[in-house]
Amino acid sequence: MDFKQYIRVIPDYPQPGIRFKDITTLLKEGAVYQAAIEELAAFAKQLDVDLIAGPEARGFVVGAPLAYALGVGFVPIRKSGKLPYESIKAEYDLEYGKDALAVHVDAVQPGQRVLIADDLLATGGTISSSINLINQLGGQVVGAAFFIELTYLEGRKKLGEIPTTTLVQY
Ligand code: AMP
Repeated sequence: MDFKQYIRVIPDYPQPGIRFKDITTLLKEGAVYQAAIEELAAFAKQLDVDLIAGPEARGFVVGAPLAYALGVGFVPIRKSGKLPYESIKAEYDLEYGKDALAVHVDAVQPGQRVLIADDLLATGGTISSSINLINQLGGQVVGAAFFIELTYLEGRKKLGEIPTTTLVQY
């Protein structure tokens, strides 16, 4: 399926020079959303994953249905300060701005095979921070899956040898 036609590109949002990839136009088309999740699920099935982890907030929109499709658990990676139980955190740089992500200390058991899902791979800062958190808990990041990749920002370099799939590239 040609997913790109369902993604709306908004120039100069949230600041001048950024071309924001708006996935709400894809999400509201049920069959397209389902096909996108199924394509990522086909990739994830080869990796024998125990858990899907996704960073707030659009990582939930990709990661939770992916976990459901695979019949595995979902770990929310949240902005620092949002989680109710004991957590660890890691700072990261965005294409625009800086932030910190956190997970509960018992979110992943040592040795569990985790696939990280998000809507978009840009500089790779968010995914690096997510990998850092999973590794700190003793989990093994065995894959990464995204709807969109901004190839010119070379985020894949931060993923090294981790098998990665993206549905649409710019
Ligand atoms: P990065 O950490 O640089 O790989 O950025 C990825 C995160 O920032 C993703 O969670 C996206 O939701 C968001 N993001 C970064 N750049 C864009 C963009 N051009 N359009 C939409 N979302 C973006």
